Amino acid sequence: MSLTVTVLGATGSIGRSTTDLMRQHPGRFRVGALVGGRDAASLAALAREMRPAFVALADEAAGPALREALAGSGIAHGAGESAVMEAVAREADIVVAAVSGAAGLRPTHAALRLGRTVALANKESLVCAGDAFMRDAARYKARLLPVDSEHNALAQALGDGRVSDVAKMTITASGGPFRTWARERIAAASPTEAAAHPTWSMGMKINIDSASLMNKGLELIEAHHLFSIEPGRLDVIVHPQSIVHGLIHWRDGAVTAGLAMPDMRVPIAHCLGLGDRLTIERGRPLDLVAAGSLTFEAADEERFPCLRIARAALAEGGAAPTVMNAANEIAVAAFIRGAIPFYGIAELVERTCAHFAPTYRTAPANVDEALAIDAHARAWSAQALAA
Ligand code: NDP
Ligand code: MG
Repeated sequence: MSLTVTVLGATGSIGRSTTDLMRQHPGRFRVGALVGGRDAASLAALAREMRPAFVALADEAAGPALREALAGSGIAHGAGESAVMEAVAREADIVVAAVSGAAGLRPTHAALRLGRTVALANKESLVCAGDAFMRDAARYKARLLPVDSEHNALAQALGDGRVSDVAKMTITASGGPFRTWARERIAAASPTEAAAHPTWSMGMKINIDSASLMNKGLELIEAHHLFSIEPGRLDVIVHPQSIVHGLIHWRDGAVTAGLAMPDMRVPIAHCLGLGDRLTIERGRPLDLVAAGSLTFEAADEERFPCLRIARAALAEGGAAPTVMNAANEIAVAAFIRGAIPFYGIAELVERTCAHFAPTYRTAPANVDEALAIDAHARAWSAQALAA
């Protein structure tokens, strides 16, 4: 019997890795629904090949283009938020939540509420509304499987072990393209330089977050919620080869770790396999002898202030991570269009967090509250940029 898989963010980097795996196992998977943002041509081409039951674009204005691109295909489709929700509501055994940014909150949460098994790539769901997501996953009996490579490695290394027996969980960072750069050189870096990730191939936003180490900060927050572990037992180390992704340090001194080549299809395959192991065609097997040496170094919060800011937001709790994420999305977009320098990202995020610290002390109780805080923080930081 084949499993029905719905992909939210189907045209993105994670979405394409997912459909690539599904293509490799045609008898095993069927596509339920495919959801994209605004790129009608790419989504329609994917749909014509994968034959989903329903296709949706979030951008209502792209509806006519989608209709035209799917003309004669017989594939049901729609555009706008209600169409996205219709896609989520279609029957599925697994929903891969791979929309980028806070835009992923509503559809991901809708899948949880339906009690779906959710393979979660959209880390922003946990960063912005982690308490509400974890509570509702339990309430609606939805399984949450981590796609993010570090968290997937942690889950595999944890196995059936108890988090209460864990002394520390460590996630690794490649260190990004600026790992060895001096502060002055980083300060003058261009978006193209920041997007040139040394080990992973990913979407633009997460590439910039990897260069600033904000991505690792977001991942600490993600791990805190996923594994229900307090910030003091979470750690980051830099590991330029990106082969060891997550380590569980047990209380007796034993350490179990998750290793794999840097290929997102590995954690995605783990999620889609639901306990079975899937073969990945054209995957490069890990060859430790060829890798030669695996090296580790401390993360430098002076050259990478976003990691410090994210740790502070995690420690502060409440809505601090929600505000921080919103400001970071505005700042990264501004950096990409050349409006601010690289360290302008950390500066704007820190200013926004400081501004809202007295306002939002409690964690958002639900997605609506999280999105209201998100919108408020975005508006403020966009205005601060323009001023
Ligand atoms: P991409 O930018 O490559 O893709 C984003 C996808 O989301 C696209 O399909 C895009 O469609 C769609 N999208 C954008 N806005 C909306 C919206 N409002 N509603 C519905 N769909 C929308 O991102 P990535 O694949 O790199 O990342 C996706 C998520 O996975 C992020 O949360 C990221 O942090 C996380 N992640 C990614 C990793 C990676 O290796 N790439 C690793 C670990 C986590 P369109 O093309 O039409 O705009
Ligand atoms: Mg990751």
